Amino acid sequence: MLDRNRIEKPHDQHFDILVLGAGIVGAAVSFYLSKLGYKVAIIERDGPCAGATGACNGGISYLGKRAMELSQTLESLQLYQDLSKELGYPVELDQTRDMVLLGKGEEDLEDLEILIAEAKAQGQEARLLSRKKLLAYLPQASPLVSYAAVSPGGLQGVANPFSVTYAYLGAASDYGAQYRQADVQSLWMEAGRVRGVVTDQGEIEGDIVVNALGVDADRIWEMEQIDSGMVPQKGIVLVSEAYPRMFPGNLLNAAFMKKNPPEISLAIEQTLSGQLLLGAAKLINQPGKDMPPGIMEKIAMHAMSYVAGLEEVNIIRAYTGLRPTRSEGHWLGETKIRNVFAALGFGGSGITLAPYAGKKLAQIIGGKS
Ligand SMILES: Cc1cc2nc3c(=O)[nH]c(=O)nc-3n(C[C@H](O)[C@H](O)[C@H](O)COP(=O)(O)OP(=O)(O)OC[C@H]3O[C@@H](n4cnc5c(N)ncnc54)[C@H](O)[C@@H]3O)c2cc1C
Repeated sequence: MLDRNRIEKPHDQHFDILVLGAGIVGAAVSFYLSKLGYKVAIIERDGPCAGATGACNGGISYLGKRAMELSQTLESLQLYQDLSKELGYPVELDQTRDMVLLGKGEEDLEDLEILIAEAKAQGQEARLLSRKKLLAYLPQASPLVSYAAVSPGGLQGVANPFSVTYAYLGAASDYGAQYRQADVQSLWMEAGRVRGVVTDQGEIEGDIVVNALGVDADRIWEMEQIDSGMVPQKGIVLVSEAYPRMFPGNLLNAAFMKKNPPEISLAIEQTLSGQLLLGAAKLINQPGKDMPPGIMEKIAMHAMSYVAGLEEVNIIRAYTGLRPTRSEGHWLGETKIRNVFAALGFGGSGITLAPYAGKKLAQIIGGKS
C-alpha cells in the first residue's frame, strides 16, 4: 500500500491514484482501488457514461467469446451476480437470458461449432440447434436461418450500463474517491517521473495514473510516444418502442463474433424496460458520430433477414457509439511509463468485462505498490 502518512494541505490536490475517464471501466477501476484504501480521483471531461458506455447495447454474455477472453468473461459475469450487494447500490441487471447465435450456411455452422466447443471446454452448457429444433425454440427464425448455437441464461443477459457505472461511482465515493470534471490534456511529467495530469482546470497531482479514456486514450501521452493501437469502431443502434419480451435471449449472428466482421451484423437485445436495441454496424476507423446515408435501413433489412415479425416493430430513435477497439485485444497493466497504467481497448465487450477489468487492475496495482 502507498504511504498514507502524508500531511494534507487544505483543498489537497494530491491523490494516490488518478483514474482518467468515467466510463464503465474507469468507474469499476476506481471502485476496486478505493476499496483497497487508495485515495482516488476520477477525472472526467463530459460526464459519466459520455463515451461508449452511454451508447451501447448492454448485453453481457460468454457464448461467442474465445480463449483467454472467455475465462475473463466468466469471472466478470460471476462478479455481476453479487454486484448490487457488493456496491450497496441497485444495479439494473437480468442474468437469466439465453444467448443465441444464428447461422445461415455451412461456413456459419463451422464457426458455431467452434464457439460451442470453446464454451463447453470452460464447463459451460451450449448446444447446436438444427433448423427443426430451432423453430420450436425461436419460431420467429427466418427461413434463411439454418442453425443456432444456444447457451442458457444464468450468467448471461443484459445490464443497464448507466446503472452499473453510477453504482460503481457511488460505491467508490463511499470509500472516499473524489469525482472531478476536467478535460485531461496530458500527463504531468517531472524528471522522467509522472507527477499527475494537466487539465483545463489546472494540474492534479497523483502518484499513479490510470488511463481509461476509451477511444481518446492516446491524447494524453502523445509526447511520451506510447501508441495504444486504439481504433474507434463505429456502432449504430436502432431503438424501438417497448414491447413484451419477444425472444428467449439476446440474438447475434455468427459473423458478429468474427475478428474482422462485416460492416453490418446482427445484434438484437431487449432492454429491461422492453425496448429492442437493433444493430449492429461495425464501421472501422470512421471518426465522428455521424451516420453514413442509408445505414439505418441496411441494419433493419439485415435484421429482418434473420428474424420475422420485426416489420411490425416501431423504431423511435437511433444512436451512434464508438467502440474502443485494439487488434490485439484489451490492455490492462502498466505502460512503459512507470506508474502509468492502461485500462483500455475493451471493444464490443466492455460492459461484460468491466467488473473483471476493475478488479484485476486493482490487484495489479495493489500487488505492485
Ligand atoms: C454500439 C455499441 C454497442 C455495444 N454493445 C455492447 C454490449 O452489448 N456488451 C458489451 O459488453 N459491450 C458493448 N459495447 C462496448 C462497450 O460499450 C465499451 O467497451 C465500453 O463502454 C468501454 O468503456 P470505457 O470505460 O473503456 O470507455 P468509455 O465509456 O468511452 O469511457 C471513456 C470516458 O473518458 C472520457 N474522456 C475522454 N477524453 C477525456 C479527457 N481528455 N479528459 C477527461 N475525460 C475524457 C469520456 O468522456 C468517457 O466518459 C458496445 C459499444 C457500442 C459502441
